[in-house]
Order: sequence, then C-alpha cells, then structure tokens
Amino acid sequence: MIDRDALKTYAAELESADPARIVRWAFDEFGSTLTFATSLGIEDCVITDMIARQSLPISFFTLDTELLFPETYALKDVIEKKYGISIKAVKPQHTVAQQAVHEGAELWLRNPDHCCELRKMQPLREQLAGYSAWMTAIRRDQTPERANAPVVGWDGRFGLVKINPLVRWTAADVQAYVHEHQVPYNPLHDQHYPSIGCVPCTSQVMPGEDPRSGRWRGSEKTECGLHFVKPTKR
Ligand code: SF4
Repeated sequence: MIDRDALKTYAAELESADPARIVRWAFDEFGSTLTFATSLGIEDCVITDMIARQSLPISFFTLDTELLFPETYALKDVIEKKYGISIKAVKPQHTVAQQAVHEGAELWLRNPDHCCELRKMQPLREQLAGYSAWMTAIRRDQTPERANAPVVGWDGRFGLVKINPLVRWTAADVQAYVHEHQVPYNPLHDQHYPSIGCVPCTSQVMPGEDPRSGRWRGSEKTECGLHFVKPTKR
C-alpha cells in the first residue's frame, strides 16, 4: 500500500535531483511494478537512454493508435535495437477501419476527445492495471496544465504513483542531453514538429508559434487526456 504522505516527502526530496537519479530511485522503490510509458517523443528518448545507461530492467510500453507517423514506428525499431529493449505496442480494441464502422469515418475530425478515449485512454487504463507506478516524460513548461506537475505524486485518475523525472527540464536541457549522449530521436523534430502525435492531429509549427500549437490545430483541445483531464493541447 502506497503511503500518500510519503509521496509528498519524496517529491520534495527529489525536486532538485538529477533526472537520472530520479529514474534510479523509481526503480529502487517500485521494481517490476514500475512501467515507463514512452510516447517516443524526444523527452521519452532521453529517459529511455537514462534507463539503459543504468541497466535498469524497467518495462516499456507505447500507445500505438495505429495512426502514428512512419518515422515514429521506425524510431521504435531503432531504439529497441540500440538499447536491446522491447517496447510493448498497446493498441486500441478496434482498428481504424473497425472504428470507422462503429463511429463513422475520421472520428478525430468530429470528436477528438472520444477518439482519444477509444485509441489512447481505454488502452492506457488496461495497460496500467496491475502496476504500482508509471513513469512519463512530461515537462512543466510544455503546457499550463503541466506547470505544477510534481516529480512524484499520486495519480488518482489511474490509481497508481506517477513519476515525472524531467519536469524541471527545458527544451534546451533535453537538446543538450540528446546531443551529449547521441540519443536517437524522431527526425520529424528537426522538420518543425516539436510535438508529435497521431498523423491526423499533428501539424508543423512555424517559428514564433507555441511548440504545441501543431497538436489538434484549430481546436481548443490541448491534451489527449493521458496526463490531465480535459483542458482542452498532450
Ligand atoms: Fe484520435 Fe487524434 Fe487522439 Fe490520435 S490524437 S487518438 S487520431 S483524436
């Protein structure tokens, strides 16, 4: 049983800790009941590298909506080969074609919240069941909703502990780590895609635009729901 008060103490103690040390702490604390949800973004690649450098046997999964960019699928293969790991592809109950039959074609255009629920949230809930803690690569400066994310805290929406080792880092910190450690990352990041999700809901971001403005462009939606409830751009 997790002591929620202890989590606040851990969060305070780890607030200024090096992210690699936070990753190590998470494994020491939760062992095989810890899992890392990688969205294969550049921050996720950094955490993957930190796990691999410490030879930590942490399980990896990614939410495969079957609508990801070819570059994202190719990166998954590259990462698995480079680090000798296996990233479980967690898929929705229905294929895109089946979803079109049940919900109509291109649900993401008409009701992206429901589409994210079917293709991300439901599979995530099922995947996290049975784990005591999950680790993600969110940063506080990505969205207003993430501004107060703790290093470690209780995730009441999914009923387990959530660890965010990179919350204090900036995009420049991430870039510096990637450069210094030669971490593989999605080439789309160098083609005006700072944030990469599903193909239908991701567009290029031009200089001067908010880095997340390419997600669900033209709508109020700002998060897919994995990290925060409904503020309408993950
Ligand atoms: Fe559907 Fe778009 Fe959400 Fe992907 S990001 S699950 S395509 S609404």
